[in-house]
Amino acid sequence: MKVLITGGAGYIGSHACKALANAGYTPVTFDNLSTGWRDAVQFGPLVEGDLTDKSSIERAFQDHAPRAVLHFAALSRVDEAMAKPGLYWRNNVLGSLNLFETAVAHGCLDIVFSSTCATFGDQDDVVLDENTPQHPINAYGASKQAVERMLEDFETTFGLRHVIFRYFNVAGADPDAEIGEFHRPETHLIPIVLDTVAGERDHVTIYGTDYPTHDGTCIRDYVHVSDLVDAHILGLHWLLDGKGSRAFNLGTGSGFSVRDVIGSANRVTNRTVPTNIGARRAGDAIKLVSGSRRAEDELKWTPRKSTMAQMIEDAWRWHQVADYRQ
Ligand code: UDP
Repeated sequence: MKVLITGGAGYIGSHACKALANAGYTPVTFDNLSTGWRDAVQFGPLVEGDLTDKSSIERAFQDHAPRAVLHFAALSRVDEAMAKPGLYWRNNVLGSLNLFETAVAHGCLDIVFSSTCATFGDQDDVVLDENTPQHPINAYGASKQAVERMLEDFETTFGLRHVIFRYFNVAGADPDAEIGEFHRPETHLIPIVLDTVAGERDHVTIYGTDYPTHDGTCIRDYVHVSDLVDAHILGLHWLLDGKGSRAFNLGTGSGFSVRDVIGSANRVTNRTVPTNIGARRAGDAIKLVSGSRRAEDELKWTPRKSTMAQMIEDAWRWHQVADYRQ
């Protein structure tokens, strides 16, 4: 059975392709290679195309007739969204609209959608569950919230059934070190810390130490990419079993500050990462921690690898052997 993976050349999408192939599906990657890597597409065919170009997504449906879609393709950097909100609305919202219209036209009515905890915005000390009101504070979160709403409208009118996953911070790499996290430019904390350990950067800048948290730095909930893609297989099965549309938060419920992450990386790699204190980064929420057990209770999702040490260990192993980082 073919499953279309938009963004399959990216960090999370490529791990999803591997998990799908292992589960017996053929993952067909649809990617414009703007932030993804051709060499990360190892588990099924690649269709090069851009979701903002409707004819290219139409071709992918004609050529492959996928049974379902896992929709990862999006721009996802808060700093970039603050500088270029129009780019985020055009790419993430128009791209999703083209995808959903094409899927409906081809009778492909099961979609797993990558959303984000950034749809919740800044909510003080609240643990974020699926009932928490969404008040995004940047164009990235707002564009994802808009697509969530679009899915509801497409279900009402066309029967497009969907599982929405709101990711917290995804980390780690394939335990076999075949694929991992790599962006150019790199903006994410753990890869930046590991680049610094590897001597590719002089230091890590900590974006703000005056937040109202235990050590003054922002808190995030980190989930291992292998656990995250396991949830996607469960989400796909949920839809193929005919269960109703549902949104799930994917986090572990444990919060780690920027300084906690750096401390853990120091221990795992047995080095001391040099740090500088910088200004707060625009658009950053103080604390994003998942308070939900819905994915565990209903999807029967069990995060197995999401300890900070394991995530850094797997990311570090891949970092040292990765060929497409060169
Ligand atoms: N961060 C940092 N220095 C960096 C990169 C990130 O202090 O060089 C902080 C960032 O402000 C946030 C946390 O690390 O509080 C996680 O950031 P990341 O970009 O990895 O993910 P985000 O939470 O933005 O999705």
